[in-house]
Amino acid sequence: MNVRNKILLFGVLMVLLFPRNAFSQSAEERGLRLLSKGKYFTLYGPTNLNISGILSKLDFDYTSQFDTLYEKDSTDLTDILAKTIDSIYLESADILDIHVYSFEGNIKFLFNQNDVEIVFKDYFKQSLGERSFYIADNKTIYISYEDLTLGMLAHEIAHAIMSAYFVVPPPTKVQEVLAGYVEYTLRKKSGNLSK
Ligand SMILES: [Zn+2]
Repeated sequence: MNVRNKILLFGVLMVLLFPRNAFSQSAEERGLRLLSKGKYFTLYGPTNLNISGILSKLDFDYTSQFDTLYEKDSTDLTDILAKTIDSIYLESADILDIHVYSFEGNIKFLFNQNDVEIVFKDYFKQSLGERSFYIADNKTIYISYEDLTLGMLAHEIAHAIMSAYFVVPPPTKVQEVLAGYVEYTLRKKSGNLSK
């Protein structure tokens, strides 16, 4: 097969494999910038979103997972954010006892629930009524910065881990129970059961 035919075939395959607008981003997504990149997640957020705000909302000590690997006294906030998210990923994986070390996904922080709703509607043409969600197709967590908690993020990370691990996805209800368990365990551990 010559090169031109190969390119043509590739194009046809892409259209067949990704017929819907799974990768055409909404205006909300296009306005995001790269915040940081860790081992498991690349993080995006609006230009004026402040990283220390995310860190204080998560209030998670990343050294619980990376004790021996990293110095705690890093002052680079983007670096601390990446390690914090990686650490929450590993902690969630430990709770589920599902370890997908090759996982690489995205987290897109949006300002508030309304922005999360807009992105969800763009993809699925229906309303969500939640402050966060995960799309397995593009391995992306969408989450409201305004409502952000450690439990919420861990819940979505649990969905990401499960969808990367199971060849045949468990029923939605089973996934929700497991994601809820991860959320509960992390909230309990950080003393935030009331949130
Ligand atoms: Zn869920």
